[in-house]
Amino acid sequence: MNRQFTRYRYFPCTVGLFSLILSCQGITNALRPLLISEDDETKLGNSFKAQILSDTREYPQYNGNQAVIRFVDSVGKYLASVQDERPNLPFTFTILDKDEINAFAIPGGHIFVYTGLLRNIESTSELAGVLAHEIAHITLYHGVNKMVQGEALNLVNTILFGSDSSSIAGAIANLVESLAFLKLSKNDEYDADKYSVRYTTDAGINPAGMKHFLKFLLDKYGEEPKIFEPLSTHPRTSERINAIEKEISRTPGAPKDDTSLLYKEEYQKIKGLI
Ligand SMILES: [Zn+2]
Repeated sequence: MNRQFTRYRYFPCTVGLFSLILSCQGITNALRPLLISEDDETKLGNSFKAQILSDTREYPQYNGNQAVIRFVDSVGKYLASVQDERPNLPFTFTILDKDEINAFAIPGGHIFVYTGLLRNIESTSELAGVLAHEIAHITLYHGVNKMVQGEALNLVNTILFGSDSSSIAGAIANLVESLAFLKLSKNDEYDADKYSVRYTTDAGINPAGMKHFLKFLLDKYGEEPKIFEPLSTHPRTSERINAIEKEISRTPGAPKDDTSLLYKEEYQKIKGLI
């Protein structure tokens, strides 16, 4: 604890508090507003998103059919509107034009989904399941918790409190490069799946969509697919599917069948436009 505190004592007091609390007991949701405000998280997230999209080779933004962009955005925004963990955080949904079955979330409410994923799912409920899972990573502060720990904290401090624009730009670039800081735990993944069931149910969409997507991954890529959120530490896919089934069975209002409220036809029309 002392080493950590000494190391950061020259940063503003909130950051000293950061280190002290982190090294003593980790972060709790009750303490987090003392550590990083939603405004600071938004500032970081916006810089991070701009840096990601500036790398047009690795993260090419999809600028194809506007109906596809609007559809993904509207499904995502509707899901974000039913959650009440972080009602004031503005969420954005960006499509990346790459043939990867992937999606990810960064702090500040920004979610990215790849055309490779959009082309490999079959229904709006699958899309909603994936987007709700990513929304939950943000509402549950999974990325933020990683970002304010370890070496990444130095970069965060520079971005938030630095005065030299070239140092800030360098810190943003380094933060993006060290994407491994977003490596989430198995518990984070179980929790995001659980909240995905809740958010999709509250949005009037069958929560079985996330299960159908995982089933597709399991059938095609086995128990530990390295494609969807490759930086996370995922539980075995079959165990995730079982956990989602249990969560659906105990969620009030969730359809207990696998066939209603999937919105397959609607999605197939959008899929045909990608
Ligand atoms: Zn995840």
